Amino acid sequence: MPVPSARPHALIVGAGIAGTAAALALRAVGWDATIVERAPARRRGGYLVFFRGDGYRAARRLGVADDLRDRLGPDSRWFEIDRRGRTLPGMRLPADARRRSLTLLRSDIEAALHDRLPDDVPIRYGRTPVRVSQAPDHVLTTLDDATEIRSDLLIGADGSHSAVRRLAFGPERAYRYDFGHVVAACMVGRSLPGLATGDTAVMPDAGRAAWVAGFRDCGPVAYFLYRSDDPGAELRQSSAAVLRRVFGDHPGPLMPGLLDAAEAAGAVHFDQVSQIRMPRWTDRRVALLGDAAWSLSLYSAYGACLAVEAAANLADEVAVRDGRPLVRAVAAWERRTRPTARHHADRARRMQHLFLPANRQVARVRRAAIRLSHSPLTRPLALRLLPQPL
Ligand SMILES: Cc1cc2nc3c(=O)[nH]c(=O)nc-3n(C[C@H](O)[C@H](O)[C@H](O)COP(=O)(O)OP(=O)(O)OC[C@H]3O[C@@H](n4cnc5c(N)ncnc54)[C@H](O)[C@@H]3O)c2cc1C
Repeated sequence: MPVPSARPHALIVGAGIAGTAAALALRAVGWDATIVERAPARRRGGYLVFFRGDGYRAARRLGVADDLRDRLGPDSRWFEIDRRGRTLPGMRLPADARRRSLTLLRSDIEAALHDRLPDDVPIRYGRTPVRVSQAPDHVLTTLDDATEIRSDLLIGADGSHSAVRRLAFGPERAYRYDFGHVVAACMVGRSLPGLATGDTAVMPDAGRAAWVAGFRDCGPVAYFLYRSDDPGAELRQSSAAVLRRVFGDHPGPLMPGLLDAAEAAGAVHFDQVSQIRMPRWTDRRVALLGDAAWSLSLYSAYGACLAVEAAANLADEVAVRDGRPLVRAVAAWERRTRPTARHHADRARRMQHLFLPANRQVARVRRAAIRLSHSPLTRPLALRLLPQPL
């Protein structure tokens, strides 16, 4: 149990990017924080994440930006391997776009935040909430070991399958919108012939695509995406089996080694691609944060960024209250965050075709946009046809 103190106290469920950023930001404005995490220990590894914009600026405010290192480098190459196995140039972005963004592992951001957490923020691993009840002046959360934690604020930062959301706002099916796509991400764990450190190779095809990046230090990381009429049935199988079935006949030099490595390494993330859309993320002293509230999907390339940005803004809002009750400050934070979340959720629906062309026709338009991006004159049109994550 946290030691009683005069400072306001937040219970945060989830030690991912959102939860750890919230603990750090709240601690910096004089709150106490306790984190409850379902995993038995800190999660390591991850997948490719572009980190930029206001997310990066919030990381700077939290004092962690200098700990984040780009794993591709400024001269990274982006190429594609088409359905006939031909290697083609990838999207050409404006010169400063790469400089404005970091490409790293999800766990790099989580680790940077975690390393800055003061020692007086306890993390209770291997635990999950089973009951939430609100009173006018506190919220009481019961954990699965029957411990009760009383706090001023409960923050559900427990990802897109959030338990706090289920307990406080109702079942996931009411809020989840599926793309009908499956994603499997893995750390390849060995070098791949044809992929140098700093390279990003995309293998787009109608209804399936693989992305692999030659990261510094940790080696290549990859994710595979494909359309499915029944993603739930796919997820009941092993990731290795479904990847071999869906990508086994993909031509090109990288795929055989990539599939072998993916099978040996196992998936660090295997799920369907979904968004969470809720009419409200806050209810008095309960606030959802990050994927638990607005999961934008990987197609936005902004979920990690918004998690950090919104965590920093939540701390600002509850710190400077000018006599406002806490519940009003929390509601104000939701109003402030909604337009950004909506913008990126909408953008994700348009950007999905960059990541995974739905069919042959979309794949051809996508290819045409990439060709247009090679001339500075036609690049603006290319970026309108095919918005980019950077
Ligand atoms: C393949 C892929 C690529 C992506 N690319 C990008 C990108 O380029 N740029 C970008 O900004 N974003 C990207 N994202 C999105 C980004 O990774 C997420 O939006 C971000 O990690 C969300 O962080 P979170 O802390 O809200 O949730 P999570 O990372 O899901 O963390 C939730 C935490 O809560 C814990 N937890 C879950 N359930 C419970 C429970 N019942 N009790 C206690 N703890 C629990 C989990 O173990 C975990 O530690 C990508 C996502 C994927 C899958």
